[in-house]
Amino acid sequence: ARERKRKEGVNLLELSAAYFRERLKMPEGQGARDYLERRGLAPEVLETFGVGYAPDGWEGLKRHLGERGIGEPVQVEYGLLVHREESGRTYDRFRDRVMFPIRDIKGRTIGFGGRVLGDAKPKYLNSPETPVFHKGRELYGLYEARQADHRLERVVIVEGYMDVVALAQFGIRNAVATLGTSTSEEHLGRLFRMVNEVVFCFDGDRAGRQAATRALETALPLMIDGRQARFLFLPEGEDPDTLVRREGAEAFQDRITCASPLSEFLFDQAAAGRDLAHIEERERYASQVLKAIGRLPEGVLKSLMLTELSRRTGVEAANFSALLARGEVVAG
Ligand code: ATP
Ligand code: MN
Ligand code: MN
Ligand code: MN
Repeated sequence: ARERKRKEGVNLLELSAAYFRERLKMPEGQGARDYLERRGLAPEVLETFGVGYAPDGWEGLKRHLGERGIGEPVQVEYGLLVHREESGRTYDRFRDRVMFPIRDIKGRTIGFGGRVLGDAKPKYLNSPETPVFHKGRELYGLYEARQADHRLERVVIVEGYMDVVALAQFGIRNAVATLGTSTSEEHLGRLFRMVNEVVFCFDGDRAGRQAATRALETALPLMIDGRQARFLFLPEGEDPDTLVRREGAEAFQDRITCASPLSEFLFDQAAAGRDLAHIEERERYASQVLKAIGRLPEGVLKSLMLTELSRRTGVEAANFSALLARGEVVAG
C-alpha cells in the first residue's frame, strides 16, 4: 500500500512538472520566458533541468490534476495544493513563479522550488516535507550532473538553483545545491559514496562564509583517506551565477582547480584574527586546530595534519597526539 501511494505521489509530481513546462511555452509564460532570458538562460539548459512556469491563478494546477483523476487530499499531501484550515479552501501553492523540479537520483521529480519573477517575498518557495521530499537529504542538480557525466569524480556544492543552472549553461555541469539548508552529514555522506572530491563554493557574503565554516565541521569526520574536500571563496558580493557570467567558464574553472584544500582552510581559519607572535594566541590557535584534527578519522591525513601543526607551532607532534589520546582537547 505504501509503495502504491509513493507511486501515486511520483506520478502526480511528474504530471505537475509537465504542466509547468507546458505553461512556460504558452502565451501566459511570456513574462517568465523574458525573465529567464534576462538572466541569460538558454532554452536548452532550461530543457535539461525541466524548468517551467506556474501561472498566476489559484487553481490552474488543481484543475489540471483533478481532470486527471487526482484527488485534492493527495495534492495537499505532496505539497502542490495548500489547504486553509479556517476556510476549508484549497489553492495552488505555486503561483506566478519560475519552477525548478527537484529530482531524485533516478530522475523522478520529488518536489519543486519556485522563484518569483521580481523582487517579491519570499524569493524562493520550496515544496514542504512530503512522503518523498526531505530537503535535508536531497541535492538539486545531482541527477543532472550524473546524466552529464556518468563517471562523475567531483561535485561543486553551491547555494542556489540559479547557480546550478547558470554553471551548467556555461558548461560546468557538476554543480549541486542544497535546498536552502546547510550542508548536512547526510548530504556529504551520499556525495562521497559517488565522488571522491567535493568543492564548496558558497556566496561571497557573510552567510556564505559562515556556511563554509559549518561545512568544514560537517566534513571532518567523513575525511577518510582518498577523499578530498576543498573550499572556493568568491569575491565579495558575487555568487557562482554572477561570477561565471562576469568571468566566463574558463576563469571559473580555474578557481575550482585552485580552491583551498580542507587542511589549508582549517589552518587559515584558526589563524584568522590572531597575532601568533604571542604564546597565548598560539595556544588558542593550536587548540582550535587540534580540536578539528581530533574529529578526523584515523588515517594518513590525520597524521599529516598533526605533523603540520607541530611544524607551525614548534610543539612536538607526540605532545599533541598524547593530548588527543587523553581527550583533553578543548578549543577556544
Ligand atoms: P537569485 O540569484 O535567483 O536571486 P540565489 O540562489 O542567489 O537567487 P540566495 O539568496 O543566494 O538566492 O539564496 C540561495 C538559496 O537559498 C536559494 O537558491 C534557495 O534555495 C534558498 N532561499 C533563498 N531565499 C529563500 C527563501 N526566502 N525561502 C526559502 N529558500 C530560500
Ligand atoms: Mn547569499
Ligand atoms: Mn546567491
Ligand atoms: Mn544569485
